[in-house]
Amino acid sequence: MSALTDLIFAGSNAVAGLTEKAVADAIAKHGEDAKVAFPDTAYFFPTIYAATGVKVAKLGDLPACVNVLKSLITNKPELGDALNAGLATAVGAEILEGLKYLESANPYEGDSGIGFVPDPIIRSLGVPLVTGDIPGVAVVLGKAESAQDVVGVVKDYQSKGLMTFLVGDVIEQVAEGGVKLGLEFRVVPLGHDVTSVIHVVTVAVRAALIFGSLQPGDLAGLLKYTKERVPAFVNTFGPIDEVVVSAGAGAIALGFPVVTDIDLGENQVPGALESETDHSLTVKKSLELRGIKIKVKELPIPVAFASAFEGEIIRKKDMKVEFYSGKNVTCELVRMADPDSIEDHRIVVDGPEIDSGEVEYPLATFVEVAGAKMQADFESVIERHIHAWFNYMEGVMHTGQRNQVRIRISKDAFDKGLRLHHFGEVLYAMIMDEFDTVVDKCQVTLVTDPAKAEHILKDIATPVYNQRDDRLQSMTDESVDTFYTCTMCQSFAPSHVCIVTPERLGLCGAVSWLDAKATNELNPSGPCQIVTKQHMIDERTGRYEDVNEAVKQYSHGALENVTLYSLLEDPMTSCGCFECICGIIPEANGLVIVNREYSGMTPTGMTFGELASMTGGGVQTPGFMGHGRHFISSKKFARAEGGVERIVWMPKELKDDVAERLNRTAKELCGIDNFTDMIADETVTTDPAELVDFLTEKGHPALTMDPIM
Ligand code: SF4
Ligand code: ZN
Repeated sequence: MSALTDLIFAGSNAVAGLTEKAVADAIAKHGEDAKVAFPDTAYFFPTIYAATGVKVAKLGDLPACVNVLKSLITNKPELGDALNAGLATAVGAEILEGLKYLESANPYEGDSGIGFVPDPIIRSLGVPLVTGDIPGVAVVLGKAESAQDVVGVVKDYQSKGLMTFLVGDVIEQVAEGGVKLGLEFRVVPLGHDVTSVIHVVTVAVRAALIFGSLQPGDLAGLLKYTKERVPAFVNTFGPIDEVVVSAGAGAIALGFPVVTDIDLGENQVPGALESETDHSLTVKKSLELRGIKIKVKELPIPVAFASAFEGEIIRKKDMKVEFYSGKNVTCELVRMADPDSIEDHRIVVDGPEIDSGEVEYPLATFVEVAGAKMQADFESVIERHIHAWFNYMEGVMHTGQRNQVRIRISKDAFDKGLRLHHFGEVLYAMIMDEFDTVVDKCQVTLVTDPAKAEHILKDIATPVYNQRDDRLQSMTDESVDTFYTCTMCQSFAPSHVCIVTPERLGLCGAVSWLDAKATNELNPSGPCQIVTKQHMIDERTGRYEDVNEAVKQYSHGALENVTLYSLLEDPMTSCGCFECICGIIPEANGLVIVNREYSGMTPTGMTFGELASMTGGGVQTPGFMGHGRHFISSKKFARAEGGVERIVWMPKELKDDVAERLNRTAKELCGIDNFTDMIADETVTTDPAELVDFLTEKGHPALTMDPIM
């Protein structure tokens, strides 16, 4: 037996012993019926659930799991046996971590790690992962001999947009090295115990359940999914003990290669477990092993530029200058121009640069683009990216759009030499990179002169905004000749297809009909394909022969019939990354909608996570449907079931967010004023009987509609 497999079995046996004792102690203390659960998940102990189908809910469920765990440890020298022992370690770690949540609701309070990652966060990662915005997931574990080594590696991952999870003393090393930690920076500390590495494993496991429609108990299917679809890998720093080694074997079993910074010599397993003692090569080696390719963007600006900086917040005390609509004229506009009227790559700052000594400036960002294939409809699609592109600059914060924006530049970025003309370089480079199919020429004018900025806002931008709003208002499913597919999420949910229409955006909320149209134009063989709509079968439910054919083709036969407007009759499928989910509440003869951000209870007796677990993976589940926020105020929302009038409950934040548009729709469709006043939220009740009382008192229309089921 090799030294390596010896170590793996030693680690697994140690974890098995610890787990068995911890379970016995917990039962002795709390009794078999004591409930155990991770917070905010519908997948129980996710690894155990996915691998065996067992739904751990109370302490009494655990001894059987410990037996399964022990049976995985054969102590035989073959690689397969060693990998199974690694899985046993994962199961043990999951149980040990789960027991922490028995002792305290928030066992990670006081630790710099976050512990268990709730389901909604995983769902929110769906779109960035499928678009390649997050190209991979790194797990960095241990304690580096020299802190700089790990700081350099993590910064490199951050600048490449990867999501990095930290376990062990590397957390402090990285924090002290000046790396900002948090989900928004894509550097997430999990915890100090090596068992906390399970919290990233369960992310991968739940991805299989949420997006991959994995059947619980299908261990082979689970391992295939994580290997093929979850682009994760592990880096260890510093000496590794037997438990780390056996955890590493678990990672390898899931298909995640491990790169360690100690020399393993002949114990290396090519492609799965490799040594890299030169830390300047760790990143390259890891990405190669996992087959992750990074598109590098070299921009002529003095600060870093990466999607990982998108969530950066710049506080007043750290800010050098600000452009804020509340104080000065600001606007952002992308406009199609006559090719002869603009000069490619011309970047002009019209008015003072930001080193003129002021703190606050007006700013009109005016981008003119021209190209043979450019269409006015793509202006807003490009314009919407300004928000992200500005945010990608380290030391720049951008919120809002159009004439309602706030942009801050940090002192740090200013000191590094960042000026407004660099903003122009960023816009130019990104537009030419991402929209090269439709844009041949691009000119950027950044206006800080107050009178000139005012002129751009009043005479150019405002009329364009108004025109666009009118166009969007008048754009209905009936007014266009084509819909589009979106199959972007197939990398995680292989049989899922969104059908995107003017009145129904993609369920992730990120793909409108105009976006899909632009995507199709930019990449004709890409994820957004044209769907004709010549053969309507049924108007009420939005059933088309053409749509069915498209869905059948692009789901590779997994799906044959889909309606656009019904939630009960062949509803559209969900991949898992939906912004909201709606479900039927029979007691109130209506629909409850809940958004990903809301973690509380709903009158259906289920949380967002629990409702969300009823659907996903490209499977149809009548009665539950994922959708985007904007769809709520659509005239086509659940039209077959009676439309928006069916909505009886939403979390308050969501209700407030959609109120204006939803009230307008309700007024137009059914003549109701201030409809959202009739809709309950968590401040009213989460109890079905009280909900009905509330609706009765308000005279909510759902109560007198045809029975929903
Ligand atoms: Fe995924 Fe649908 Fe959004 Fe496309 S529109 S990215 S398939 S959720
Ligand atoms: Zn998705």
